[in-house]
Amino acid sequence: MTVDAHKETLGFQAEVKQLLDLMIHSLYSNKEIFLRELISNASDAVDRLRFAALSDASLYEKDADFKIHVAYDKENRTITVSDNGIGMDRDEVVTHIGTIAKSGTREFFQSLTGDQRKDANLIGQFGVGFYSSFVVADKVTLTTRRAGVSTDQGVRWESEGLGEYTIETVERAARGTEIVLHLREGEDDLLDGYRLRGIVRKFSDHISLPIVMKAEGKEEEEKEEVVNSASALWARPKSEISEEQYNEFYKHVAHDFTDPLAYVHSRMEGTHEYTLLLYIPSQAPFDLWTREYHHGVKLYVRRVFIMDDAEKLMPHYLRFVRGVIDSSDLPLNISRELLQHNRLIDTIRSTATKKVLGLLSDMTKSDPEKFATFWQEFGRVLKEGVIEDHANHETLASLLRFATTASASEKQDVSLEAYVSRMKESQDKIYYITADSYAAAKESPLLEIFKKKGIEVLLLSDPVDHLVISELREFQGKQLESVAKASLDLDKLEDAVEKEEHQRSADEVKDLLDRIKTTLGEKVKDVRTTARLTTSPACLVVDEYGMDPSLKRLLQSAGQKIPDVKPILEINPQHPVIARLKNESDEQRFSDWANVLFDQSMLSSGEQLNDPISFVNRLNNLLSHL
Ligand code: ADP
Repeated sequence: MTVDAHKETLGFQAEVKQLLDLMIHSLYSNKEIFLRELISNASDAVDRLRFAALSDASLYEKDADFKIHVAYDKENRTITVSDNGIGMDRDEVVTHIGTIAKSGTREFFQSLTGDQRKDANLIGQFGVGFYSSFVVADKVTLTTRRAGVSTDQGVRWESEGLGEYTIETVERAARGTEIVLHLREGEDDLLDGYRLRGIVRKFSDHISLPIVMKAEGKEEEEKEEVVNSASALWARPKSEISEEQYNEFYKHVAHDFTDPLAYVHSRMEGTHEYTLLLYIPSQAPFDLWTREYHHGVKLYVRRVFIMDDAEKLMPHYLRFVRGVIDSSDLPLNISRELLQHNRLIDTIRSTATKKVLGLLSDMTKSDPEKFATFWQEFGRVLKEGVIEDHANHETLASLLRFATTASASEKQDVSLEAYVSRMKESQDKIYYITADSYAAAKESPLLEIFKKKGIEVLLLSDPVDHLVISELREFQGKQLESVAKASLDLDKLEDAVEKEEHQRSADEVKDLLDRIKTTLGEKVKDVRTTARLTTSPACLVVDEYGMDPSLKRLLQSAGQKIPDVKPILEINPQHPVIARLKNESDEQRFSDWANVLFDQSMLSSGEQLNDPISFVNRLNNLLSHL
């Protein structure tokens, strides 16, 4: 590090360097977006100044005529973007421009594939921002002065994007930030007013501030013209907003690179007036599951930006929704604390929630494929809604999608409504199984009778499913029932002949049951026959107060103490292994058989064996006597 009084040379954070290399190569085909990113930052900077000035009007420094300037210089081969927003002080430049302060950075780098096209998409999703300047520039000079600080406290940052930057304190009269891009060799096509205007209109029309350029052919007169529509997009009538404008606005508010999946734009009038423009992204962000996840909905009051990530405006399970809510009735000085106890905020939040759920409900009908994409990305988050949001219970229940025994893959694509419509005449319950994985659920012996009878079963393997099921309890008057419950009433599903057969074979093994029970002793609560198995000899089930084994494991891994409830061993009296066991006179071998039956049932319910060596020894004993 070389230091003199004012100027020092610093290294980028390692990730920044990596990101820059990647970005320059993979974003090239989309190089025009640098302008969108710089304008987006400039607009945010003005929003932040306006907000800060609500409590300190001196920050305006007598200049409240907010604009973003875009200029180019053919001779020096530069493009300049400047704003009179809040600016940055030296520390802010170092922390914001030299580092990536995003959660999920590590996950992001881990997910890179080396395939340029795929990675370009990922970068976009991660947010490109200021660094996209280096796609077209081989040197960037940023000069800025924070609102309210003296003019000798300006800051100049300069870098060639190769790993280092310089920073120095300079004189700067103008408030805000100016960014000069020194174009790379071969980028001269950008030094063209017509081209730049086109880019601004295409990507930044939605920006509510005027974006100003020198009028073409009028250089001498220094005449300026506003290039964009310069009004808050959400305040314009829907009919005047194109799909493309909606999409570009999304990229600005969400710091995303890809088009949104869907949006809802609506103006509420009546007792309270507010507008919402809410988007569902097309991909789940990297940090959706991290605690510090943010960048949600922005709150505006009469077009003045108030805060980012106003978590009070959206329930937690809709944290992936992005966009803007603009209220005419909230006080401008509303703080985060005040938001906690504001009746109007509660109303807005409830309307916003209903609008988003309505958007999703409509999507299930108008574009099921799109909804499938949504579910793939955000289904697991939306499931939390069933637990969190009782007011919208029914809508949420109708949006749920599950994998079932009728699905071709582990894709969750069956609604409860579809399930109910396919229920057998004799069936009055919605059956489900929970397991640690889709494969374990799908292959469980507990499903045998259901497969034989052609009865569909929901296959649940997301950790959140346990809570969802216990909140849901029923759908359209049909109770949900675990196939692992001992009380499972299969009676109705059997015809008379089957019942009789079952009864007969059960009678034949009465003595055997007692013998197994004595042998297994403390391990089981009971041993009995069952009609639920067709190809397996035995399985474990839980009684009414027992817990599904996968839930038990989940709670245990979260550190909870679970009372040890013994399972019930159910055996299939028609299975050849059971028939053989009836005639086993050697006590040792009988005990081996009984224990192996128990242990294999433990394994197929996803449990680990307390004593796997004994299991293996017993099995080998039995095999050597065949
Ligand atoms: P993002 O905008 O996604 O946060 P950027 O890399 O584009 O990422 O910008 C990083 C940060 O630098 C911004 O969040 C902001 O704090 C600051 N910044 C960028 N441009 C400006 C600007 N024109 N005026 C003030 N601050 C800015």
